[in-house]
Amino acid sequence: MKYSIYKIVITAIIGLCVIAPIATFATYYTNSQDEKSTNLEINILQSIDDDNMYKNIKSLSKKPRVAGTEQEDEAVGYIKKQFDSYGYKTEVQTFTFNDYTAPHTIELTLDGFIHIVDPSALEYSVSGHVVGEVIPAGLGKVKELQHLDLAGKIVLIKRGDISFKEKMLNAAKKGAAGVIFYNNAPGDIMGSLGEANDSFIPAVLLTQAEGEKLVKQVKNNPDTQATLNIEGAKSITNISHNVIATKKPSNQNNSKIKAKHDIIVISAHHDSVAGAPGANDNASGTAMTLELARIFKTIPSDTEIRFITFGAEELGLLGSNHYVDQLSANEIGRIKANFNLDMVGSKDAGKLTLETIDDKPNLVTELTQAASLKLNGKPTPVNQGDRSDHVPFAKAGIPAALFIHNPAEPWYHKPEDKIDKISKAKLQDVAEIVTLAIMNQTRVEHYAK
Ligand SMILES: [Zn+2]
Repeated sequence: MKYSIYKIVITAIIGLCVIAPIATFATYYTNSQDEKSTNLEINILQSIDDDNMYKNIKSLSKKPRVAGTEQEDEAVGYIKKQFDSYGYKTEVQTFTFNDYTAPHTIELTLDGFIHIVDPSALEYSVSGHVVGEVIPAGLGKVKELQHLDLAGKIVLIKRGDISFKEKMLNAAKKGAAGVIFYNNAPGDIMGSLGEANDSFIPAVLLTQAEGEKLVKQVKNNPDTQATLNIEGAKSITNISHNVIATKKPSNQNNSKIKAKHDIIVISAHHDSVAGAPGANDNASGTAMTLELARIFKTIPSDTEIRFITFGAEELGLLGSNHYVDQLSANEIGRIKANFNLDMVGSKDAGKLTLETIDDKPNLVTELTQAASLKLNGKPTPVNQGDRSDHVPFAKAGIPAALFIHNPAEPWYHKPEDKIDKISKAKLQDVAEIVTLAIMNQTRVEHYAK
């Protein structure tokens, strides 16, 4: 149980209400405006339903929800249905991404080469079986390749100066059949070609030691032949979704209420990693976004509030990047805050923490700290962090912060991340803090303090 100054005050007020009219409690407030405002806060915070969040996490976390799979589609349908049931006209925004499957077989054999090589594939390497003469080509720059006959050959290229992708495309343009890359520094290496490309040819990556031995071998035996065999690599265009429910400012025709042009975005990713049902990561943030949408639907506000669940966060913040990329400059200017909820309900994780990409406070952290101070007697701490969907917002200049419990639970990205690891008390705590923070920023004038 958390220590809550605010809840003690609420209990005292409710207790006394039984024996006396509310006007008696004028001493609790400086004026009736404050009284109205506090009563509104009490009612709203009490209407946040941890059972509702728990139930939605349970429904969402029966299976992993990897982006681009049927299970993600099912989750998207579920989320849309919930938003719709609260009275929103829900938008499902579709985006495509490249889905790469790494090869299951990577083989390199070199005639006359006595050393053992252990090649690795590069991300986005294509499958293929090629046989050819090995030609060393320095760093694989255009100038270095200019006078070499590479048609049908396997090119040996050192890492450095330009990307693996550029090196590969330079070799492919000269008609090369395959590439052997090698590291320019000692130790193991994982390489990537950055993205899929139809011009790619089969390629492998060696360590610096292996590569240098091979260069020596080829210099002494210029007709060294290599066989390169890569099987199982696949690159397909896949589809993921963002789910968006928008609450427009309330009562815009009511002359008492002045709608601002501001927008606040509450977000969470709904996808999970393979093998993990993702109850905490991140059915918890998704269920909280749904609950906040339900709560805010009936609260008068002078600000537009967008509730969004993003797809493909686990593949590199793809959904949130897509969303921010398609915003107009006008919308970006109007979005004053992004509250991003990711892993907000594990009973085995640490305390609630805010993360900003620059470790600095912003409107989100200020509003949140004022709310948590009032509710829990302590402002939520701020740390640096750039591994969730708040990042694209922050990079676009929008005040943004991640809500997460630190340190993370031992079940992070594991099959054990199931409903039995969820704490209703933690869900309720975070939801109350976010609700109060946003209410304080968006309340209409006649409720203002
Ligand atoms: Zn996550």
